[in-house]
Amino acid sequence: MIAAPPSRRARLALALITALAVPAAVAAPAAADPVRSPAGTGPLTPAFDAAAARYDVPRDLLVALGYAETRLDMHAGAPSASGGYGLMHLASNPQVRTLDEAAARTGLPAAALRTEPAANVLGAAAVLRAYADQTGLTPAARDDLGRWYGAVARYGGAREPSAARLYADSVYDLLRTGFASDQGETVTGRAVTPQRGALERASSPGDMGTLSTDYPPAAWAPASTSNYTVASRPSSHRVNYVVIHMTQGSYAGSISWFQNPASQVSAHYTFRSSDGAVTQSVREKDIAWHAGNWTYNTQSIGIEHEGYVDNPAWFTDAMYRASAALTRSLTTKYGIPRDRSHIIGHVEVPGATHTDPGPNWNWTYYMQLVNGVTGIGSGTVNTSSANLNVRSGPGTGYAIVGSVAAGATVSVYCQAAGTTVTGPSGTSNVWNRIGTNRWVADVYVNTGHSGYIPGVPRC
Ligand SMILES: [Zn+2]
Repeated sequence: MIAAPPSRRARLALALITALAVPAAVAAPAAADPVRSPAGTGPLTPAFDAAAARYDVPRDLLVALGYAETRLDMHAGAPSASGGYGLMHLASNPQVRTLDEAAARTGLPAAALRTEPAANVLGAAAVLRAYADQTGLTPAARDDLGRWYGAVARYGGAREPSAARLYADSVYDLLRTGFASDQGETVTGRAVTPQRGALERASSPGDMGTLSTDYPPAAWAPASTSNYTVASRPSSHRVNYVVIHMTQGSYAGSISWFQNPASQVSAHYTFRSSDGAVTQSVREKDIAWHAGNWTYNTQSIGIEHEGYVDNPAWFTDAMYRASAALTRSLTTKYGIPRDRSHIIGHVEVPGATHTDPGPNWNWTYYMQLVNGVTGIGSGTVNTSSANLNVRSGPGTGYAIVGSVAAGATVSVYCQAAGTTVTGPSGTSNVWNRIGTNRWVADVYVNTGHSGYIPGVPRC
């Protein structure tokens, strides 16, 4: 394609982007303190404030939607599995066209909407405002967060009412609980009553109406019959593998993508990052289209995990533990050996063009859990200082991401060898994972054991 000179409209749009440009990353604070910025002062704050003001969309609604979709991650302009771009997941796929709609409503070029954070947020705000106007939301009612529910549900683009509700409820759950992103954007929790309208009658997302008949903890939200192959496993094909995936998209977005006949993909199960909730989309007897290899598809169960391979924020203990419980149950049911030759990543499927679950997936931890080492230790922080530094990995070379107070009780989800540290309990290289990407040196925690705690997984 030959590049045409920018039209006046495009030049104005580019000027707008420049005006909204997000400043370069703020210099990190001194290492002794937690690195979180004060409330509402992350690097994306100007983008959210500008978009909220321009289109009269509640700022916290925009932040919560972006956090639910991507944890506010741009992914350098790379698309999600369903063709969504940027931190607000502006989509361009056969069924959802929010990217094109944003371009039409803002006048911004699609390339900017895909890759520039400020443009991406502005485009999402324009689309949400248009949807709200179409549902009859009056200017006086725009401050009422609950009244935006219909616009949020439509933005998600789900075809099925239960998936639309799952999507919108995930945004409203975040508004209710509040959250802080790794970049420093914060939303304070508040009482909010979603005005669900017709979606109030859709089955609640906790159970999606029907529960799985294959695995009782799972909700059941069937994929489009265009996206899998009916079979009668294990009599038609032996089930020899469990294939581990990352969705490259949100939980609700992935479940609804499998319901979209245009996607031509599906998985048997999908796990949610925040709490390990699980939804089944394809019966285990049937062949889901997840591995990109027919031989492996016929012989495997495909398990998706909410998140993106390049952002460790999604890889929670809750998701690891819930997924490992399913895999353990599948290995028992189908007689699959609990080893890495049979529990494999998508990347390990012959001919795979995908890299998931990627380097942030902790196989050591996962396989320990699958093999029944599922204990959670606990201990008391023992330091002569007021606080103990929490780091992003098992060593003093990792970034400080927070602190815990002396005397506080911490849970230990798994332990690993890291840098050697001398503390109140002596000298040791054992580090304790006390949360998602949160680690403390074991010599500063009284666990009742010296070093490794029996029954707690290695990670
Ligand atoms: Zn995959």
